[in-house]
Amino acid sequence: MPVKGLGAYDTNNIFARILRGEIPSRRVYEDDFAIAFHDIAPQAPLHVLVIPRGPYISLADFTAKASEAEIAGFFRAVGSVAKQLDLETPGYRILANMGEDAGQEVPHFHVHLFGGKRLGAMLVAQG
Ligand code: AMP
Repeated sequence: MPVKGLGAYDTNNIFARILRGEIPSRRVYEDDFAIAFHDIAPQAPLHVLVIPRGPYISLADFTAKASEAEIAGFFRAVGSVAKQLDLETPGYRILANMGEDAGQEVPHFHVHLFGGKRLGAMLVAQG
């Protein structure tokens, strides 16, 4: 069921639990602002999620409430993850679902990072 992307942060959402180490993830990156791990249901040969450490529901919530340091740190982390995964030369795509129409399912802001093949039409992440 898609989330609204606004409102109160659910401290027990799955990504909050991954951040606390309560459930496992295949982490590929972490710094003071963000962690990144493989998506459990990849939609491309490489499909990683980058999430801020802070409790933000969505892109709307993050851009409204996070500090400038958190916002800069987070987006630098997205770039660092892509670089670390050697995606800069072949290229890659990032995507963030915000709220119901986008089908956001996990109420902790995250950026999807897709790569590893020609990704095709912009709105469709194909396996
Ligand atoms: P979204 O629809 O943008 O909220 O995307 C949520 C993403 O989280 C989906 O691509 C799921 O496959 C992924 N996901 C859900 N649970 C986990 C998990 N435990 N570990 C890694 N990825 C997950």
